[in-house]
Amino acid sequence: MAGLALKNIHKSFGKVDVIKGVDLTVEHGEFVVFVGPSGCGKSTLLRMIAGLEDITDGELWIGDKLCNEVQPRDRRIAMVFQSYALYPHMTAYENVGFGLTLAKTPKAERDAKIREAARILQMEHLLDRKPAQLSGGQRQRVAIGRAIVRNPEVFLFDEPLSNLDAALRMDMRMELSKLHQDLGATMIYVTHDQVEAMTLADKIVVLNGGIVQQVGTPMELYHRPANLFVATFIGSPK
Ligand code: ADP
Ligand code: MG
Repeated sequence: MAGLALKNIHKSFGKVDVIKGVDLTVEHGEFVVFVGPSGCGKSTLLRMIAGLEDITDGELWIGDKLCNEVQPRDRRIAMVFQSYALYPHMTAYENVGFGLTLAKTPKAERDAKIREAARILQMEHLLDRKPAQLSGGQRQRVAIGRAIVRNPEVFLFDEPLSNLDAALRMDMRMELSKLHQDLGATMIYVTHDQVEAMTLADKIVVLNGGIVQQVGTPMELYHRPANLFVATFIGSPK
């Protein structure tokens, strides 16, 4: 398992600066939440860590490796999207195993990994179903299963629960916390929901306008907000 370091990371789309010098250290095994309003650059930052977006300037270290130029498939990182991104014509079993099939993992090993992920996520009974036969929460479980079988060093989640209703969101939050404990993996989780950030995070990174406003534990942010933006966003007592 690896930690990460972002050193003075910048991202521009054409002439528009979207990420304006982000410095951040994520310890191995930490659950870090990026929180901030819509459009502040959370997904862009996550996509750069995943290698889905070029880094305009700065350094991205994963473990002891400088990763700016490393291809996504060589990063030992798995990303879970808000939209689930499942293949509708494939069963849950095939969706979970898709990356392993691509990587030509032998069938017996693939089967063992898929079943182990299904056990962790308590979805063994759903493996024969196609996405249309699954609820939103079950689909999200399949998407997480697809990440788990790759055995990544770092999990990235981009608003994975925002398509679910409030009750299910609460259940899934507890499951994600448990998953983090069970796997001991480094997790970076993006949300615009302060409550989600406060309940899940070891460490919260508050972003606004492509700039880190504050980094701290939920309690530090709540009791000692660095500025008015953080206080208002987190809902600290005045
Ligand atoms: P968040 O995930 O916090 O809602 P994003 O990272 O998606 O924010 O977007 C940050 C800013 O970058 C927004 O202003 C968005 O319009 C812009 N942006 C994101 N992706 C692109 C792109 N591919 N081309 C141009 N602008 C983009
Ligand atoms: Mg986003």
